[in-house]
Amino acid sequence: MENKDKPIYLDHAATGPMWPEAVAAMLPFFTERFGNPSGVCRPAQEARRSVEEARRKIAQTLGSVPPETIYFTGCGTESDNTALTGYVNAVRSAEPGKSVHIVVGMTEHPAVLETARFLEHQGVGVSYAAPDPDGVITPESLKKAMRPDTVLVSIMYANNVVGTVQPVSELAAVSHAYGAVFHTDAVQAFGHIPIDPAAEGIDLLSASGHKFGGPKGVGFLYVREGLKLSPILNGGGQERHLRSGTLNVPGIVGMGEAARLSAACMDEAMVRIAGLRDLLEELVLAELPEVTIHSKNVRRLPGHSSMTIPGVTGENVVLMMNLRGIFISAGSACTSGETKPSHVLTAMGLPEKACYATVRITLGVQTTREEIEATAAALIEETWKLRKMHLG
Ligand code: PLP
Repeated sequence: MENKDKPIYLDHAATGPMWPEAVAAMLPFFTERFGNPSGVCRPAQEARRSVEEARRKIAQTLGSVPPETIYFTGCGTESDNTALTGYVNAVRSAEPGKSVHIVVGMTEHPAVLETARFLEHQGVGVSYAAPDPDGVITPESLKKAMRPDTVLVSIMYANNVVGTVQPVSELAAVSHAYGAVFHTDAVQAFGHIPIDPAAEGIDLLSASGHKFGGPKGVGFLYVREGLKLSPILNGGGQERHLRSGTLNVPGIVGMGEAARLSAACMDEAMVRIAGLRDLLEELVLAELPEVTIHSKNVRRLPGHSSMTIPGVTGENVVLMMNLRGIFISAGSACTSGETKPSHVLTAMGLPEKACYATVRITLGVQTTREEIEATAAALIEETWKLRKMHLG
């Protein structure tokens, strides 16, 4: 079955198309409304007003937190770096010589894991909380990693490989019981499922525009009122001295509009997208009952499906599907040309062979039933072809 004419994009966890309304909202800020929001002239003030409107829109989607708790950054990675390094540095400058320890989940994105490693080189103690076989970091697992000198815990809201949603409120409660602040990387979750930092006990939260229909190269960090962070960039002191650098006004405006649009359709989209994802899994399992669906029995992001298909390698499946114009991703991480099994799947206890046989299919708001049916049929067909050719 050829599908070249109408490509099917099912890699929304990597990135996705922008909301057309968010693109339209951005456009004037590249040309006639080009002011620098830090200035005092009229164009600057106009830009400033639009930035503040975007801040309000984002704050509203987070259980109406005060807009001043939202700080704009250059991406999700920067938000994660600012949260971890910024908080640790603030603690260290307030209490020089204090022993500092942090806990991060084993299944975090490299934006958190590599920051933790960086901090380790700076003398910070780091422990890793292990997930269960469904990718859930339980409060018990977190407790095992905590120490009396733990100052910060960072556990992602939802995982980018398998989609597992963490028991955030409980994890935040454990962190607070030890006197630590709780950071969550919500890059995959924000705009897709409801999040209420105040009600859930979240002190710091990172998100990224391009994961919810906004532009690339812009993100934000929520910082609970009263929490002090040290900046990681030195410069002009924008964003109330936390994030220096001229604000990316078009990006911020686009991200604010994307946050508003995502929140407006969230209830309906969650049900519809999860229904399509379940249909995909049913169709695949009906023909390939030996397939394992990861994290199926725990709370998952509505659009995420991670499956291990015995007898094939995920990469080959991805390549065959790509030739048919169906875009999915493998469950392994390709870094500098070398393919390694995903650290997430490994941490969940999957044997190496199963990690290599895993694919990730992630749906978006535009995904249709026809696309899902065509994808399931192609996946089944390509799996049989690869198995027959012993190309595994
Ligand atoms: N955290 C998670 C869970 C992600 O999935 C990603 C991107 O894939 C990031 C952080 C990094 O976000 P950005 O691409 O905006 O730097």
